[in-house]
Amino acid sequence: MPQSVAGPEIERLIQLLARMPGLGPRSARRAALQLIKKRDTLLGPLAEAMRVAAERIVVCSSCGNVDTSEPCTICRDATRDPSTIVLVEDVSDLWALERSGAVNARYHVLGGVLSALDGVRPEHLNIERLVERASDPAVKEIILALNATVDGQTTAHYVTDALRHLGLTITRLAHGVPVGGELDYLDEGTLSAAIRSRTAF
Ligand SMILES: [Zn+2]
Repeated sequence: MPQSVAGPEIERLIQLLARMPGLGPRSARRAALQLIKKRDTLLGPLAEAMRVAAERIVVCSSCGNVDTSEPCTICRDATRDPSTIVLVEDVSDLWALERSGAVNARYHVLGGVLSALDGVRPEHLNIERLVERASDPAVKEIILALNATVDGQTTAHYVTDALRHLGLTITRLAHGVPVGGELDYLDEGTLSAAIRSRTAF
């Protein structure tokens, strides 16, 4: 056991930071030190922002998004197309799509994907509420914006089956060559999916 170089308060800060995605013990120590050095301009405001977030953040009971209001800002936004729901695995995917500005619809956050390996079954996901929302006559299309992984695609098939009786248009994101991508660098799966999903030019 290496000897601790700092008091328990600092050790605790490092241990908590090390739990963040992308931060190991080494970068957690660097982050902690940076916070401590910038106590007034960074540590204080960050602690306050975290306290407020912990207090006020709620999960939207309609779509599963996280926000400080219920229903969330997106669900309350009357300028959004009510005929389309974009299905995503996680809030991070919702944020990514919002950053792209590609779609002005509402979302539905599944909260994961089906996985036999991790024991994730349909009842663990936000599917029932999706079927409920999709049953609204205003809804015409569900866009499956799920990851192009085996579990993501298994989930896409399951959700499609669960929605089939509603007779909606169900679409999924195109699979293919990324913008700026060079064919030589693509894996075979991406390349063959791109050929299969080719469009008229
Ligand atoms: Zn919402």
